[in-house]
Amino acid sequence: MIYGRCAACKSQRRKCPSDCIFFPYFPANDPQRFAYVHKIYGGSNVGKMLKQLPYYVREHAANSLYLEAKYESNLNLKFVMPQSNYMAQFQWPNQTPN
Ligand SMILES: [Zn+2]
Repeated sequence: MIYGRCAACKSQRRKCPSDCIFFPYFPANDPQRFAYVHKIYGGSNVGKMLKQLPYYVREHAANSLYLEAKYESNLNLKFVMPQSNYMAQFQWPNQTPN
């Protein structure tokens, strides 16, 4: 394990700069936290968004993004999985083979 890199830089396999925008909010010991926001919003968008905010609301914003992204991810899981079971049981007339 490489220390001194945040979860974002670690997942992008880049050097974590000393002023890294992600470092305080996405610690390397919680990679899932960054994985969620990266999946839903895209890592660079989150970075841009945090940079535009005053520093005193960044932590709150990072937490909100994380919870929102986590919720979205779980929501997708919940709704996509039963639907795909349903689709497996029924052949729709207009279904085209891959
Ligand atoms: Zn970093």
